[in-house]
Amino acid sequence: MLKKTVRNAGGELVRKDLNAIIQDGKADHKLVADFVRAASEAIGPDNVSTEQADLLSTCRDYWPPGNIWMLEGSVPALPQVVVWPKSTADVAKVLRLANERKLPVTPFGEGSGALGGAIPLRGGVVVDLKKMNRVRSLEPVNLLVSVESGLNGARYEEALNRSGFTGGHFPQSLRCSTVGGWLACRAAGQFSTRYGKIEDIVVSLEAVLPDGTVFSSRDVPRASTGPRPDLLFLGSEGTFGIITAATLRIWPLPEKRHLASFTFAEMESALEAIRLFMRYGCRPAVVRLYDAQETGNHFPELGDKRCVLILLVEGAGGIVEAESEIITRHILDNGGIDTGPEHVEHWLENRFNISVASILFQKGAVLDTIEVTANWHNAYQTYSAMQEALLGVEGTMLASGHYSHMYPEGVALYITTVGFPGSDKIAYFKQLWNAAMEACLKCGAAISHHHGVGLNRAPWMADEHGAALEVMRRIKGALDPNGIMNPGKLGFTEVEKWLK
Ligand SMILES: Cc1cc2nc3c(=O)[nH]c(=O)nc-3n(C[C@H](O)[C@H](O)[C@H](O)COP(=O)(O)OP(=O)(O)OC[C@H]3O[C@@H](n4cnc5c(N)ncnc54)[C@H](O)[C@@H]3O)c2cc1C
Repeated sequence: MLKKTVRNAGGELVRKDLNAIIQDGKADHKLVADFVRAASEAIGPDNVSTEQADLLSTCRDYWPPGNIWMLEGSVPALPQVVVWPKSTADVAKVLRLANERKLPVTPFGEGSGALGGAIPLRGGVVVDLKKMNRVRSLEPVNLLVSVESGLNGARYEEALNRSGFTGGHFPQSLRCSTVGGWLACRAAGQFSTRYGKIEDIVVSLEAVLPDGTVFSSRDVPRASTGPRPDLLFLGSEGTFGIITAATLRIWPLPEKRHLASFTFAEMESALEAIRLFMRYGCRPAVVRLYDAQETGNHFPELGDKRCVLILLVEGAGGIVEAESEIITRHILDNGGIDTGPEHVEHWLENRFNISVASILFQKGAVLDTIEVTANWHNAYQTYSAMQEALLGVEGTMLASGHYSHMYPEGVALYITTVGFPGSDKIAYFKQLWNAAMEACLKCGAAISHHHGVGLNRAPWMADEHGAALEVMRRIKGALDPNGIMNPGKLGFTEVEKWLK
C-alpha cells in the first residue's frame, strides 16, 4: 500500500536530483544495522525505527522542491533509521553510537524549515526530538522558562499563557515548529520588534556534541567570562550538535493593546516614518508594511493602489499610549492616512493561515518566500531589485513584498513569488533563487533574515560571509571531526553546487 502511494511513475522513491549527493556518502547498511541494535538497547526499542512510514515522516521539510516531488510521488532523500530520544542522556547515547560508526545524523524538530535543512541528505540517522517536550521549570520572579527543545511552539505559548505569561515569539509556523528548531535556525516571530528575535529571547541552552559531550550555559543575565560557546549553536542548523533544552525570557501578558493601520501612496514614505519612530525608541510589537499588491491580496477592502502599514503596540497602559502617540505623529507627518484598527484585527485572525500555498502547489504553481535583511539606505532599492529580478524569470506571475521585523538600523524584507513554469519546475526554481540572491547581494543586503540556510542557500554562503565562512568551517571541523552532523548544509561542503 505504502509503496503504491509514494513511488513515482518511474518506480523510484528517492529523487535522482539529489542522488549524487546521497550515493556519495550513504551509510553502509551493516553499520546502520549495528547502530539499530545498539541504539535499541541504549534508549529502548520503541524509540528506534526503520519502518518506511517513520522514515517518510522525517525525510523532508517545507522546502518547495521537496513539496513538488512529494506531490509527484517521491521524496528528496530518506534516512535509514529514526530515533526518538526522551532525555538529554538519550541524545548523548545516540550521538556517541552514531559517531563511533561515523553515521550521518540529522536533527529533526517538526520539519517546518523552508530551506531543506532537515532533509537527511546522506541517509543515516534522523534524531526526532518530539518526545523531548517538557517544561522543566517556570520562574515567575526571574521571568524565565526552561523547556526541552522538542516542545511544539503553540504548546509552549499555551503553557505560558496558563500562568499569565507570554513567550513573545510567534513565527507564522508557531503551530508546526519546535523551540529547538527556532534556536537552530535563528527564528524571528511576528512580534519581534518588541520582544526580539530568538537570539534576544534565549538566556541559556543545553546541547550535546557529536561525541556525546553534554554542556550548558548559565541562566544569569550576563557574565564577562570569555566567549560563549552556547551562542555558536544559534543558527547552526544541526551541524554542530543537538540542542536539547533552553532557558528563555518570558513577559507578563500585556495590560493593553493598541491596534492601528495607515495607508501610504508609496512604500518609501512609509519606510521613512518607520525609520523615524524606531530612531526615537518606539518598539511596537507588530510593524508590517505591505506593497500595493499584497495590500490588495490580504486586505481587498483597501484596494491595490496604496500600501498599508499595520501596527500593534502592547505592554503597560501608559507606555502604550505614549508610544502610539509618537508613532502616529511620524506617520501622519509622512503622508499616512488613518484606516483604523479593523485591518489589524483581520491580520491577527488570519496570521497563521497559509492554506493558499497548498492550493497553489496542487494547481502546479511553484511558490516560495525569500526573506532578506537590508539597512534603511538600501531597503527600498533591495525590494525593487529583487522584484524586478524575479519577474524577469520566465513563468513568474507574482513577486510581491512586505517589510516586517524593524530595527533602528534597518528592516527585514519578505518577498513572495509565484510562477507557473510549465514542465521543469525545478529548473525554474533554481533560476528564481539565482536571480533573487544575485539581486540581493548586489544591493548589499544580507541573504537571509530568519529562514536560515539549509541546503538551498548554501551556494551563497561564501558571498555572504567571505573569510568568516572558513572560520565557521574550522569550528565545525573541531566540534565534529567526523563530519556526521547534518552533512551538506550551511555551505560547509561541496554538495551545495546542486542548486547553482
Ligand atoms: C508556513 C511557514 C511559516 C514560517 N514562518 C516563519 C516565521 O515567521 N519566522 C521564522 O523564523 N521562520 C518561519 N518559518 C521557518 C521555520 O518554521 C523555522 O525555521 C523553524 O524555526 C523551524 O523549526 P522546526 O522545529 O520545524 O525545525 P526543522 O524544520 O525540523 O529543522 C530545521 C533545522 O534545524 C535543525 N534542528 C531542528 N531541531 C534541532 C535541535 N534541537 N538541535 C539542533 N538542530 C536542530 C534541523 O536539523 C534543520 O537543519 C516558517 C515556515 C513555514 C513552513
